[in-house]
Amino acid sequence: MPILLGAVADDFTGATDLANTLVKAGMRTVQMIGVPDGSAPLPDADAVVVALKSRTAPVGEAVSDSLAALAWLRKAGVRQVIFKVCSTFDSTDAGNIGPVADALLDALDAPFAPVCPAFPTNGRTVYQGHLFVGSALLNESGMENHPLTPMTDANLVRVLGRQSTGTVGLVPFATIEAGADATRRAMMALRERGMRYGIVDAVSDAHLMTLGEAAANIPLLVGGSGIAMGLPANFVRDGSLAATAGADTLALPAGHAAVVAGSCSRATLAQIGLARDAVPTLELDALAEPDAGALAARALAWVEGRLGATPVVIAASATPDKVAALQEKLGREAAGALVEAALAAVTEGLVARGVRRLVVAGGETSGAVVQRLGVRRLRIGPEIDPGVPWTLADGAGGEPLLLALKSGNFGARDFFLKAFAMLEPGR
Ligand code: ADP
Repeated sequence: MPILLGAVADDFTGATDLANTLVKAGMRTVQMIGVPDGSAPLPDADAVVVALKSRTAPVGEAVSDSLAALAWLRKAGVRQVIFKVCSTFDSTDAGNIGPVADALLDALDAPFAPVCPAFPTNGRTVYQGHLFVGSALLNESGMENHPLTPMTDANLVRVLGRQSTGTVGLVPFATIEAGADATRRAMMALRERGMRYGIVDAVSDAHLMTLGEAAANIPLLVGGSGIAMGLPANFVRDGSLAATAGADTLALPAGHAAVVAGSCSRATLAQIGLARDAVPTLELDALAEPDAGALAARALAWVEGRLGATPVVIAASATPDKVAALQEKLGREAAGALVEAALAAVTEGLVARGVRRLVVAGGETSGAVVQRLGVRRLRIGPEIDPGVPWTLADGAGGEPLLLALKSGNFGARDFFLKAFAMLEPGR
């Protein structure tokens, strides 16, 4: 089966979010980490999401990485491409959304792309071209104070217009309400007036489904993960995708279970607190022993005799006062890097000792772990909690490894235990 849908995502967790959406809509999906190596075999999947780190990279680098990802996806034969951006449209007047979208349209020789970051489930809606976060306009949502991409204008027609060399129009609420045909006609009308983009209003999932249907033959879409909701149905409708129940099925490797936590978010601290009462838990004290090698050695000595089907939890996570103390001692970046290095080494040791089912808590921590293990791609499996699926990685010494990469604040309190319980037969 050919790969039908490709995506270029401007960051790692956004890529997982999109891949998770596609799987839930019935497409078997693989997430590639970084621009794929041209010689690597094509994954057996209906959709592939290439995860870049281009959201805040210098614009030239963001464009060239995105074009390289696109070239690989086109070689893989994809029929449609999504450029996945943040649902709060994180960017500056210099980019990177406009310049990357312009370059992707040029490379595809396509005249027009619909743009819609709406993600109603998470409170992101677009009305008359204005992006809302909950009940607040984007520029009054706190995003106006973002350290890297302050969003001071909620009018996406203007925002994208400042970033792109093309002109930007609007497919308004009344049109998307009127259905897929009206939306398709409105997009064609914008294109005929020479517009390169149309911001599409969407305040509900039904609107995103309408947009998906209307965009069936459009080569490039720009948006948040919600923009993918309605696309799989097009491939089912035209017969190129079997209606796939079970797109989230993963082969489950046998092996030991573990959790490695580097997130200090409130949610993760609560998850560790709950796990502590149920399973063996080691809390590393990076402040008392600020030495990555020594911390890793301590953890790996502790796991002797403890590994099995019941997960062990190894956490460097600490309360804000302790984190601040280590940061004061070493500097903010060095403190983070030290803990990340320690946990990456711990993970490598765990895999060498037969761990094949691993939860990692923390975005940066996950990045460090994936890099250390040499993981280049993840097959997306069943969702554990909203936005966090189990994934199957190859690359850890060739051995398949189940990985759940959890952004710090995600997941319910019982996330760690629930994640492993759902792998047991008869769940
Ligand atoms: P989140 O997804 O919650 O933001 P991250 O893994 O992205 O989690 O970020 C947490 C950062 O805090 C990492 O760089 C990690 O290495 C660092 N860290 C973890 N534990 C400690 C600690 N005890 N002291 C200082 N920094 C820590």
